[in-house]
Amino acid sequence: MNRISHWIDGQVAAGTSGRSGPVYNPATGEQVSAVDLASVDEVDRAVAVAKAAFPAWRATNLSRRAEVMFHLRELISANRKEIASILSAEHGKVLSDALGEVARGLENVEFACGIPHLMKGAYSEQASTGVDVYSIRQPLGVVAGITPFNFPAMIPMWMFANALACGNTFVLKPSEKDPSPSMFLAELLKQAGLPDGCFNVVHGDKQAVDRILEHPDIAAVSFVGSTPIARYIYETGTRNGKRVQALGGAKNHMLVLPDADLDMAADAAVSAAYGSAGERCMAISVVLAVDTVADALIDKIESRIPSIKVGPASEPDNEMGPLITGEHRDKVAGYLEGAAADGAAVVVDGREGAPEHGFFLKPSLIDHVRPGMACYDDEIFGPVLSVVRVEGYDEGLQLINDNQYGNGTAIFTRDGGVARQFEFDVQVGMVGVNVPIPVPVSYYSFGGWKASLFGDRHMYGPDGIDFFTRTKVVTSRWPDPRTSSVDLGFPQNR
Ligand code: NAD
Repeated sequence: MNRISHWIDGQVAAGTSGRSGPVYNPATGEQVSAVDLASVDEVDRAVAVAKAAFPAWRATNLSRRAEVMFHLRELISANRKEIASILSAEHGKVLSDALGEVARGLENVEFACGIPHLMKGAYSEQASTGVDVYSIRQPLGVVAGITPFNFPAMIPMWMFANALACGNTFVLKPSEKDPSPSMFLAELLKQAGLPDGCFNVVHGDKQAVDRILEHPDIAAVSFVGSTPIARYIYETGTRNGKRVQALGGAKNHMLVLPDADLDMAADAAVSAAYGSAGERCMAISVVLAVDTVADALIDKIESRIPSIKVGPASEPDNEMGPLITGEHRDKVAGYLEGAAADGAAVVVDGREGAPEHGFFLKPSLIDHVRPGMACYDDEIFGPVLSVVRVEGYDEGLQLINDNQYGNGTAIFTRDGGVARQFEFDVQVGMVGVNVPIPVPVSYYSFGGWKASLFGDRHMYGPDGIDFFTRTKVVTSRWPDPRTSSVDLGFPQNR
């Protein structure tokens, strides 16, 4: 059995806790590896190594830190197929999708290549006579990232590229379900010239996470995962004095107005609902169809489903892979059972005809869904698209704004005025206009509202730089005997 160990101080570190967890190939259902699960002592060791590496890395000049990011950019680009195949072997997503994940992660490394510009402060000459005031950005110290299973390469890159470029050192606790991409990225960081100890990976479960949350030498925690855990991470981390950003779950609605291009809307709904088997926090899980076009839209969505090729990533034609575990597949399938019992209409049932081996479920479509049904209220995180029929814009908007989540949303219309009003009204962090998965490019920032994000800063982009730095403001005067006198009054500038 293949064993996946930690990465500490620039090398693989075999686990000593005696605990391990299974890693499956979801396309076959077989266990392919065992991943070491860290003890408190192992987390402490990784943090101690990162703490020791911090002073020298922090003092490394900006050009050199940028150069490491440029090298990393080249290495990831050259190895993108390898990274994609490593991640699809443990996650299950098809290769084209995995390559897309690597490309979107790489954008963040490219953004971090601009660190000399991004770390600039502000300068005010002559704030008072002979006095200049300026702000500088400094790294926080040792920072940690805790990541989910669904983007095992991209989400670590969202975090560590900016964190390292800013001069922090990093401890990553990836998902224990697909831990290998992090190890490969650790190796590439070393090859890129990052000094040993600056980037460490500890695999683990709640025990490792809890140690990270309480460790006195960790200054900040960046988390992405489900909402209950995000809330826990935020509350526990901030109680322990850490800076925390914790991104949670989602229920993303796509509002289709009668003037929309219905073929384009149907293509978009199918792509965004079933891509990556619906295991994306920006997946569309609810279509809000205005009554007058609902039947036509549902027909168009339904007609596209049979041609989606479902199967293992090993076959390059496949478009949708399995779910992450058998347990999760069964949970998702349970929503189809529940929807029918609640009075919704299961138009396409993905339990029928799914490949026998592995954790597969085919795309499913449910019509006549209403709030209060579990398939509407819960984040399903699988290839299940619900349709709620609404009277018009106002009812659709109300449903989106009443939802506990506020990660992503999209409106499909040809009316620019209505689209603009939607942008203005909707209580969601990322909005698409005729774009179903509006994941911001890396020079903007990613983040939801409401129960989709706990904390003040969104992920990556300019917010990422803010999150991984703190500012210091210097007020400076150079000795000038002409302006020096004793003055016990409060310093004034006029
Ligand atoms: P998860 O919350 O189960 O796990 C995320 C991380 O938390 C993992 O590293 C895991 O080991 C750790 N963890 C799990 N249970 C824990 C516990 N009890 N105590 C401490 N740590 C714990 O999430 P997941 O199943 O890996 O990922 C899917 C979820 O992530 C979905 O809800 C999805 O919407 C969300 N997600 C959100 C975003 C976003 O940007 N908002 C992006 C991707 C995924």
